[in-house]
Amino acid sequence: MEQNSSIESRYRTLLSRMEAVRSVSPAAADSVSLVAVSKTQPEEAILALLRGGHRIFGENKVQEAAGKWPKLREHYADIELHLIGSLQSNKAKDALELFDVIETIDRPSLADALAKERGKSALRCKQFLVQVNIGEEPQKGGVEIAQLDALLKHCASVQLPISGLMCVPPADTNPSPYFALLRTLAQHHGLQKISMGMSGDFEAAIRLGATHIRVGTALFGERQNAA
Ligand SMILES: *Cc1c(COP(=O)(O)O)cnc(C)c1O
Repeated sequence: MEQNSSIESRYRTLLSRMEAVRSVSPAAADSVSLVAVSKTQPEEAILALLRGGHRIFGENKVQEAAGKWPKLREHYADIELHLIGSLQSNKAKDALELFDVIETIDRPSLADALAKERGKSALRCKQFLVQVNIGEEPQKGGVEIAQLDALLKHCASVQLPISGLMCVPPADTNPSPYFALLRTLAQHHGLQKISMGMSGDFEAAIRLGATHIRVGTALFGERQNAA
């Protein structure tokens, strides 16, 4: 109980901090959505936010999401679930059934797998973002900046509609130049959605035009096991 009421109060605080930054930043979006990153969090913690009226959540693993969300959707029909972790092509169908938004398209073969499953039957997922490896880090997910244009063209050619870009900037460095670059790339390609900013840097992301921020720790507290 104690734990859950602190989640609700962190939620209220976060929403007001988001709006405080957004409202004074000339380059900010007209509205910013909070994706509550619930990976590794117990159902009780998620329910605390659902009861508080929140509906947009993010998970990074298909299997973990499959164990948590179908049950929660029975009680809350208007949930919007985002996949924010890397996706294997052989899980394309599962992901399309589970998620409303897939933020991590990063290669042509994955776009092909998703387009193929969408062609076979009507599945839940309607929105897709391309993840960009904005810091050009070898170990990080996302398409290389130099390959972005080709990937977007490929998605168009297989009729996978891309509505925006997502990134995770390098750790332990000022994220603002990376956020600015992601926004420039989105504008250049005429893409509306920009998913960037986490617990430690969401204010900078909002200042630079994020339409979605993805926040876990600042809402739920520390995760049990690193994910
Ligand atoms: C875990 C995760 C987040 C949330 O990180 P916090 O620092 O806990 O807010 C955001 N984006 C992605 C892609 C993640 O994997």
